[in-house]
Parts: sequence; C-alpha cells; structure tokens
Amino acid sequence: MSAFQNPSSGFEAIFSTLQNAEDAESTLNVLNILDELLSADTDHRIHYMISKGGSEALLSALIKNGSRSSPDYTILLPILYLVAKVGQKDCRIGKKAEEAGAVLLTLNLLKNNIQHAGRAEAYLNVIQVFAGSVSTSKHIGSNQGLDIVYNLIARYTIKNRQTIKASIIAFAALLSSKDNICSAVTKGYVSGLLLLYDEWHSKDTNHSATEILQALLHCFCKIARSALGRDNLVSHGGIRLLYHTTQTYLLNKCQESLIESSVQLMRSCLPKTRLPLTSDQSAYRFPLPGRQHDDLDMVATSDESNGDDDDDDDDKVEDDYQEAQSKDYDNDLETDLNTLCLRPATDRPKELLLQYSRLCPELSHDFLEQLDLNSQESSSSSSSDDETGHCNRLPFDSSRPEKKTPEFLSQTEKGTSDQTKSAPCPLKVKDFYSHTGINTRSGGTKTGETREEANSSLTDDEQKNKNEGNGKCYNSPMTYLIDIHGHDIPYHEPSMYRAAALKTKSVPGFSTLAFPDFWGHVPPPGNEPMAPRKPNIQRQKVLEDIQRFLNTDIINQVVFDLEDECLQFPPAKPDSLRFFSSFECGNLRKAIRVRRYEYDLILNADANCSQHTQWFYFEVSNMVPDVPYRFNIINCEKSNSQFNYGMQPVLYSVRDALNGKPQWCRSGTEICYFRNHFCPVRGRLRTTFYTLTFTITFKYSEDVCYLAYHYPYTYSALRAHLRLLNRSVDPSKVFFREQVLCPTLAGNACPFVTITACHPSKSYTDIHQLRDRPCIVLSSRVHPGESNASWVMKGTLEFLCSHDPIAQALRETFVFKIIPMLNPDGVINGMNRCDLNRDDLNRQWCKPDPVLCPTIYHTKGFLSYLSSIRRTPLVFCDYHGHSRKKNVFLYGCSIKETLWQSGSTFDTAALKEDPGYRTIAKALDRIAPAFSFNSCNYLVEKSRSATARIVVWKELGVLRSYTMESTYNGFDQGIYKGLQTRTRELEEMGMKFCHSLLSLTVDTRALYGRSLINHMNPGHNVLDHKSHKQGFELDLKGCMANTCAEGGAEGQRTENKTARWCHSFTTVKSPAPSSDNTDVY
Ligand SMILES: [Zn+2]
Repeated sequence: MSAFQNPSSGFEAIFSTLQNAEDAESTLNVLNILDELLSADTDHRIHYMISKGGSEALLSALIKNGSRSSPDYTILLPILYLVAKVGQKDCRIGKKAEEAGAVLLTLNLLKNNIQHAGRAEAYLNVIQVFAGSVSTSKHIGSNQGLDIVYNLIARYTIKNRQTIKASIIAFAALLSSKDNICSAVTKGYVSGLLLLYDEWHSKDTNHSATEILQALLHCFCKIARSALGRDNLVSHGGIRLLYHTTQTYLLNKCQESLIESSVQLMRSCLPKTRLPLTSDQSAYRFPLPGRQHDDLDMVATSDESNGDDDDDDDDKVEDDYQEAQSKDYDNDLETDLNTLCLRPATDRPKELLLQYSRLCPELSHDFLEQLDLNSQESSSSSSSDDETGHCNRLPFDSSRPEKKTPEFLSQTEKGTSDQTKSAPCPLKVKDFYSHTGINTRSGGTKTGETREEANSSLTDDEQKNKNEGNGKCYNSPMTYLIDIHGHDIPYHEPSMYRAAALKTKSVPGFSTLAFPDFWGHVPPPGNEPMAPRKPNIQRQKVLEDIQRFLNTDIINQVVFDLEDECLQFPPAKPDSLRFFSSFECGNLRKAIRVRRYEYDLILNADANCSQHTQWFYFEVSNMVPDVPYRFNIINCEKSNSQFNYGMQPVLYSVRDALNGKPQWCRSGTEICYFRNHFCPVRGRLRTTFYTLTFTITFKYSEDVCYLAYHYPYTYSALRAHLRLLNRSVDPSKVFFREQVLCPTLAGNACPFVTITACHPSKSYTDIHQLRDRPCIVLSSRVHPGESNASWVMKGTLEFLCSHDPIAQALRETFVFKIIPMLNPDGVINGMNRCDLNRDDLNRQWCKPDPVLCPTIYHTKGFLSYLSSIRRTPLVFCDYHGHSRKKNVFLYGCSIKETLWQSGSTFDTAALKEDPGYRTIAKALDRIAPAFSFNSCNYLVEKSRSATARIVVWKELGVLRSYTMESTYNGFDQGIYKGLQTRTRELEEMGMKFCHSLLSLTVDTRALYGRSLINHMNPGHNVLDHKSHKQGFELDLKGCMANTCAEGGAEGQRTENKTARWCHSFTTVKSPAPSSDNTDVY
C-alpha cells in the first residue's frame, strides 16, 4: 500500500477516505488502519499524524457519527478511542474540539449514556483530554460538565470501577480551571470527594482500589492549587483524613504509591504559619552612615502582599528528595565579546591609589637594619596593639565625606577606649567564668554571680582539686582552668584569644566568650564518615511535622528569645534546655520548646536585614544525658542542603574539652532538611522556609555544649592567630607584617598580611630580586557563614610561615598579600551572607562604595595600585565555602570556555587565549586529595559579573583569578571519599594551594628537586592520587604556541582584535608564565 511508502500522502489519503466513507464497513476499515499505524512507535507517529491534521480529521468523524439520531457505537467507540489517544499528545486538542463543535456534543452524548458504563467511559476519556486546556475545561464547567461528571463518581461499588476511575480522572482534568475549583467548592463537591475517599479506603480491604484512591488524590492535588481549595480541604478534615489513611498505607507495601502523593498533598495544604517573631528584621540593628534608621524597615517590607497566593501555573509538586535543579548556566553565560574582553578604565583617579604604597612595606623595608628591632618587638605584644590602635586613625582618602563613628561604638567603648593599655575588660570575670566553666550560670545571676557562687558550680572533683591545689591561688578562672586541665593547641593561646576578643566590636556588644573559641579546637583523630541516611527519613520527618499540626500535645514554651531581656539568659528550669548565643559568631534568635525533648529554633537574620538565615552557632546546657533531643531549625532559606546528603552539624562539649578532647565533632542523627509551612512575619505568604532537623544525645548531665552549622572561626580567632604567627616566624628569614587594610563600618580592623622571604644581603641583586617578586593576592571570608574558608586560609597562613622548604621556596619566589577576612563585621555578628550594609560584598566589586563597602573598596584599590606600579598579581584567589557541593574546587575565567559552553557561534579557533588559567587546578588535581578537578569551571557568568573573581580578571587583568570553593560536607572522590571534612582537611587544602603555586614558576624543575618531592610525599601517594582525563591537551598546545607568538601584542589592541585575548601577562614582569604542557610533577 502506498500509504506506508509515503506516510505524508498516506495519512492524507486515510483522512480523506475517513471523511468520505459512507458505509460502516469502510469507516471501520479506515479506523482499524489508523489504530494499527498508531500502535507501534506511537509518540513519533502520533505527533506526525497530528501535524498532518489527524486531530481535525478524527474530530470531524466524531461529529459526523455522533450527531446521528441513533449513533452506531461500533463506529463511534473506535473513534472516541482514537480521539482520546491522539488527543493526549495534542496540546491544542481542546481548542480544536471547541472550534469544531465537538465539546458540547461529547458532553451531551455522555449525559445521554450515563446508564451505559462502557460508552460513558469512552466519552469521559475524551472529555479528559479536551479538559487539558484550561479554557476548554472552563467551557465544559460552564455547561454543567462538572456536575454531570461528578454524578458519575458513584459511591463505593464493586461494579463498573473502570468507569468510576475514568470519571474521577476526567473530574481532576476539569479542575485545571480555577473557576471549576471554585464551583466544586461552592457545590460541596470537595467534602463529597473526601467522604468518598474515606469510604473507598475503609471498604477496600483487599487493596484492589488503589488506582481509584490515586485518582481521588489527584483531584485533591488539583484542588489544593488554589487557596480556596486548600482552605476547603483543611476545613473538611482533609489533613486529618489523609494523615490517618497514610498511617495504614505505611503498613502495606502495595500501597506505597499512595503515601508519596498523600504526603505531598498534606504538605501543600498545611496552612501557612507566620514565624513566631515580632518582626522579620534582624534583632541586630546598626546605624549606617548617611542613612536614616527607618530606611531599613522600608526595604524589608517592600514586597509585602497579603493577597491570595495561588499557584495555578505550577504543575509540579516540589520534590525535595532530589538534588535541587542545577542552574541553567547557558542562559547566564556572557556571550558578548566586548564585555568579555574590554578592560574598563580604573574606577578611581590615580591619585587615590598612592595611599596603598604603605601596604607594600617589603619594597621600602630595610631588612638588615630592622632585624634587631623586629626581634625585640616580636617578643612583646605592643606592636600589635599599636596596629589596632592605628586602625581608626588611618587617613583614608575617599570621594565621600569622612564617616562618623556609629553611635553604638561610643557606647560600647565608653570607659574602655582610653584604658585599653591597663586592660580593664568588658568581659567580667564572673561572666566569663559562668559561660566557660563546666557548670552553667546559676539561676539568672548573669551579672550578680559572685566568685564563691561560681566556685560552687564546679564539679566535686574540680572543687576538690582546687581546694587541694597545693595552696595555689588563681587570680583568674582562666589560669585555674589551664593549670588544672592543661592546654596545648598549636597556634592557639586562650589568653591571646581573650586579649583579641576584648578589642572586637560587635553590634550588640558581646561580653561573653564562647568556650570553644576561647579554649581552642583540634580536629578529632579519627575519620568522620558521612552519616548514613535512613530510608524514607524525609517522609517520616514531614509526617511528624504534619502530626504536630493535628495534635494538641505541643507545649509551645519560649525558652530563649534574643529580643526579650528576661529570656536572653533565662533561669534554668528543670527538664528544659537552656540556650545562649550572645557571643561572637553566635546566631540563635529564639528557641521554643515544642515537646518534652524537642525544640524549634529560629535563626537571626543578617544584621539590618530580614533575610539570609542559614548559619547557626549557639550554646546549650541543662541537658539530661542519654536522652535524644530533637532540634528543628525552622527558618533556613536555602532550597536544599548537604544535610540531606550525609552532612552533620558540629558539636563541642566543654566537658570533653576539659577532659583533654577540645574538639568540634560531627554529631547528630535523624538529620533531614525539608520545606516547611512557615512563612515570614510580614511579606509574602508564598515565601517558604526550610527546616533542618537533627537529634543529639548528650553524654553528660553537667555539660555545656555548642552546636554549629560548621566549625566556627571567629574574627578574634584570626587576630590572635596572626599575633601567634608573627611571634612564630624567624624575622631574619621570614618577612611577616600584619597591617590594617581599613577599618570596617563597625570600627574593626580588617587585617592585611604580607609574607615573603627576607633578602639575604643588601647586595643589588638580592634587593632587586625581592622587588621583582611577583605578588600572589589571597582573600577569604567575604561571606561570613563560610567559616570553612577561614580554616583553609588558616592552613595557607601557617604553611607560608613555616620552616617547610617549599614554604621557603615560595617566600623566595613570591610576595604574598593576604586579606584573610574581607567581612569582619559579618563574621563577628553571626551573619550568613552580608555585611552590616546588608549587601553581599561579593557582588560589589564593580564599583564598591568607599563608605559602605570599605574592605572591598580598599582591596580593589590595592589591586589597582599594584597594576599601576606594574606589579599586577600573578594569582588572585578568594576562598569561599560551597553549601551544595562536595570536595574543593576552583572557579576561574576563560573567554574560550565561556563561548564554547554558551553555544556561541563565534569562531573560537581564531581566539588566542593563554591557557595558564588551568595550571593551578591541574597541579591541585595531582597533589590535593580534597580537590576535584572535574568540579572546576572557567565560565564567566553575567550574574557573577560583580564578583571578585570576574572583576579582578577583567578590570585588573589578572589571568589567574579564582574563587576556591570548599565543601561544608565532605568528599565523594579520592582518598577522602565518603568522609566529612574536618578542619584538618580544610587546613591541608590551604597548604596544598600554596604547593600548587610552584607550578607557576619558571624554575619549577629546580624547585621540585628530589628533596622537595620527597618532602611533599611523606609515605603515601598524595602526589598522584588520581588522574583526570580531559580532552583539551592538544588544544592547549596550539593555544600556547599562538600566545607566545602574540606575546607583545598588547599595544596594538585597537588594531588587532585577536591580540586582546592575550589578556594579562604583558604586565607581569617575572617570572614568565610557565606553559601548562610543561608538566612539573
Ligand atoms: Zn561565598
């Protein structure tokens, strides 16, 4: 038959035959052929048939045969079957049927055949596909279609189940129109369907009606898409019914499919609950220079709306079980060549750059003369005090008027600023003691606790030790603790920490140290494997959440509230935990006891903001040992979390610390992260929060424990660490200088560190070599919640100051300029994302405001200064933490890769790009076990155009400009596979990053002499623990050849477009870039 040889003419011939067939037999024949044709390879052929007018042909056959006074069902039933089959694939079938007049005809035929189960089912299937279009379903509804179909959904019966199922499915399809949902609610159909669901469920003892129950759940899901429908479902006991039925489904494996739908449905119906707070605004307010205090409120409430939050267009019910959809990078990639290539003029006049010459002390330093002085200074702490004191006096030029000291500063500093030298501290001994001693403060005597009372809170053993302590008299609890418990943590001294903390300025004026920061932390010796995830844990937790809505056993007792003076430090109640978080990096706003051993916790938004809750760090005490306590952090914002993929929060026990284990450990079971039904106090109901839930079983009764999102690293810890590093280096070999980049908005010093090698002599060659050393600029912690970045930086700093021969080689080769904490105020105040100006500082690099973003403004200024003196850094890397990925990886910038990835039609073969941007990643791939080469990318995204990485690359011409992202969780590859990260692995990554910099030197072969390689490879094969197979090696060589040939092309940029790709190296004097194909390992 020719139809099979030429389908196009074939389908048309079939349709024309169908149209013209006058007798039943030839019509049936044609229908049989169509059915046959569509039974194999269906999707493709059906779509082809639709494109050839198949739907219209079938609809006209339906009208022709259905309009007869007594239709011939031997013909009509096959037509209805084919309309339903083809209609499922034709998104315009409803419209086509309306235009052809088939909709009301079908509805009428259904009405006339209600008693005839088989025919009714065929009509219902057709109505279902017609109702796929919202306007058609509205049309059917307004012609009593909803009532006709509803009446077919009989009560429970063992007869005609197929027809009943078809009616329910058709009814669900009609609910795609909001008007139909409205009339279903008005006519009581929603409550009717709930009764029916209950009846089918209770009478279906042999589980044969699962499909009908599933179809009814589908109706409820459609109803729940409108606020009216949800309210109606809830008010008629829908949640209770579904909860009850789900409990029985849980007992039967064959009803598994019903559980998922029921749980999702209950979640979407749970009434939105405003967070139990007085305001979404952070409890911490800081007056910004040049802005009225009231401005803050306006920003937060601008999107307020109390309207109906219908979600009619959104078909999919969110699936928290899957990793959140990865971003569609392609749309976000920069494809404009001019934007990718142009290097705009500097953002400020050159005169303003001169101030940064002070940040290159190594260029003017007379090492030999200063040697004696340095060694004297390093033995006392006076130099560091001066540095801090200097902080507020730095004469910074800026285009804005000088900022005024914020009011709160003068208050908190009252009575202390002039007395710093005699060191009277705002941390009262009794406060300090009560917060760091093994016992917590006794009943609300935060400020009134006497020394004797404090002593009485010691355990018996400690009291005994103390009394028998060889007659020693301790003048501070700290010396007592250290004497009794000993203390030896590398690069950590409690007294140094305390001294640093005394100078730290927080918005609320913290007067307390958290014990872990004060006492210090060493990573636990054993591995920390990822937590196994119990099957269906998420479902279980969501069901428990729903149960809370139904039950009345909820205590709802506020036990901690940052905004209520009486509850900031509430008296201990028997049986209830005590919470506290008013210390550096602390973040807990409110704690509510909901069941005997279960607490809802609410985090404080970033200061001056109403958003960005994710980071937490708080103290908990008064626990009963060996009892599982459940904690629910109910206002997390990220849509997914590594807490669903094996990550645990971290716990620090003071008692363990004093017993010789000062450790933050991964802890917690029953961990789960899911969307909840809470919404902001003001603002849109549709904004949702997420719950992080975990269970902790405490070991001791008399303990104070700390829980945090990740290993805390405070600003004071950094300050103390830098002091200790300064003290640790040999000033005749290592040039280590801590300076202040600038004061922050709150008046804290933003530290700036220079590390390089002292030159061995005053000879011209040595001095010249020092002045020619290329700069490596490193920064971290612009996002305060990313404490992992600080631990990586700690590893970098300690390595660079070490006696390690590689460190020595690096110091002799490079000058390191390090800004280890770009956002001190954010870190201090327990914020997650922003600075006090409520901006994400890593989106301010294009034009940073000198007053509101001083650290970014001056970092960029310093980088511009380096460019202006022809010392453009060889590498810039900003350390970050990544909340959704495992491992550690780099983001860099490449024009070619961006254009490839974006699908740009530009011929990239003509582009010349130095492939040196890949060198560090390739080196790290070989030497750093935590590093994942495959997670790196070099794409320039539009949405990131104001980040450090892209601005430093584009505007300042640093070819190797990176963001280094470290996981909060752990590793899924290499020798650490399956383990959560400890601080040890993060610090090691900081060290390995330094190692990788050797790959950039000309002299790599010399540097990688036998002794160094042996040193880097102590016992286990970390040098080559894995390899990657990437397909760009050949291309690389081509690129390099071109780049070298075009080496001096920068001056011709205006004439020669391709020369622009040679982006940066002409400004770097020494050493020349090594090529990627010179493999040094
Ligand atoms: Zn970040």
